[in-house]
Amino acid sequence: MDYPELDHEEGLDPQDWAAMRELGHHMVDDMMSYLETVRERPVWQPIPAEVKAHFQQPVPTEAQGAAQAYAEFTAQILPYPLGNIHPRFWGWVIGTGTPLGVLAEMLAATMNPNVGGGEHIANYVEAQVLDWCKQMLGYPAEASGILVSGGSMANLVGLTVARNTMAGFDLREQGLQATTRKLVLYGSVEMHSSVQKAVELLGLGNAALRKIPVNADFEIEIAALETAIAADKAAGYQPFCIVGNAGTVNTGAIDDLSQLADICQREGLWYHVDGAFGALAALSPALRPRLAGMERADSLAFDLHKWMYMPYEVGCTLVRNAEDHRRAFSLTPAYLTHGERGMAAGSLWFSDYGIQLSRGFRALKVWMSIKEHGLDKYARIIEQNVAQCRYLTALVEATPELELLAPTALNIVCFRYVAAGMSDEQLNALNHELLIQLQEAGIAAPSSTTLNGRFAIRVANTNQRSRREDFDLLVREVVRFGKTLAATSRDE
Ligand SMILES: *Cc1c(COP(=O)(O)O)cnc(C)c1O
Repeated sequence: MDYPELDHEEGLDPQDWAAMRELGHHMVDDMMSYLETVRERPVWQPIPAEVKAHFQQPVPTEAQGAAQAYAEFTAQILPYPLGNIHPRFWGWVIGTGTPLGVLAEMLAATMNPNVGGGEHIANYVEAQVLDWCKQMLGYPAEASGILVSGGSMANLVGLTVARNTMAGFDLREQGLQATTRKLVLYGSVEMHSSVQKAVELLGLGNAALRKIPVNADFEIEIAALETAIAADKAAGYQPFCIVGNAGTVNTGAIDDLSQLADICQREGLWYHVDGAFGALAALSPALRPRLAGMERADSLAFDLHKWMYMPYEVGCTLVRNAEDHRRAFSLTPAYLTHGERGMAAGSLWFSDYGIQLSRGFRALKVWMSIKEHGLDKYARIIEQNVAQCRYLTALVEATPELELLAPTALNIVCFRYVAAGMSDEQLNALNHELLIQLQEAGIAAPSSTTLNGRFAIRVANTNQRSRREDFDLLVREVVRFGKTLAATSRDE
């Protein structure tokens, strides 16, 4: 038999393992130095046009080599991050990561398991991580769960289980077309956009998501919620779920999670809690009482890449009733038959609990990080972030040129620069410009939001590298930039 094409078989492993090993050592050295010196660099810098142009080259057909790829990485990629590993990055809600997280990602990629199912150890690691998450958040041990890409996916998974379980008919088989009774669900106007995305993806339509007003602390108005549920019932709708916020993205507000649980119980509704970052406050004995009621959720969504400082991506959904969870996703064609023995054995098929079939080994970085530091350390740093935000709040309140725009509930501070005689509209423009200048100068990176029509500089602290002096500097610089801007606008 003649197979000339097999005379020179190839693979993707290096020809020269020693060279690859040396390159790897270099990478580890470079990356640890990069992390060690992060404080010395600007938070952010604009990407030059020629660097952007570098990423418009045609796809390489010829080998350029690993060393060349790494050289371009260090020159053209590494210097231009968003900045979220920096001690003065507080934009949106983005975590910092850790050095061991970096190495754990390498170990996971080395084993390269597909954690969709089968009898191999990665599934057991994930199951352990899920058990730890339940213990961390005071959630029942019998609950099921799955690691997902992040809070958005965690909300989608939880709300899928909610919709399918509460529909009252075989929704997977018949789809929403089978019913003329419209399913509706509730949450506050401060809900994260990912909840709306999930509701849209679930075919319910954004109109089915009733957005209930909030009180002065940006927490859901319970009376308004109860009125809305009663009105929907009277009008023939089918309320099926309430979404509670454990830490809203704008201000960190925590809904009254116990009262929401009571209402769900009384009205027979599914209780989903979006705790993307706020749920992790439960690690702190001091903060945990603020989340009372969260443990009663039927499904709970949260991130580990935000307030647990794990490298992207990793979030989690926990579901109180494991059977509900499984029923929403399990699908086993012949080619996925779960065996009794051999490689296809084992009851841990995570593909039965989520949307992905092929899944990465997200659990390893979580498992290793929690082992590295222990939960108490995480609790202390979460408390430290909250204390830093209280400190910043006090600085803002003590600075006549600054105005706090929302109560600081947890780890988010919203404020603005103010100058006498300027209208809200002028202040909005000034603060917008101020924020951009602060970012462009690479000094600090808050983001923004609008609260009651006012543009707010928004500091969300899920940063394990920030120190008190970083907040001193922020306030100093905001005042400095603000004064210059206010002076220019007066001259105009
Ligand atoms: C960040 C966030 C989400 C979305 O999580 P991702 O990990 O970004 O997908 C959902 N809800 C809240 C409150 C968040 O802060």
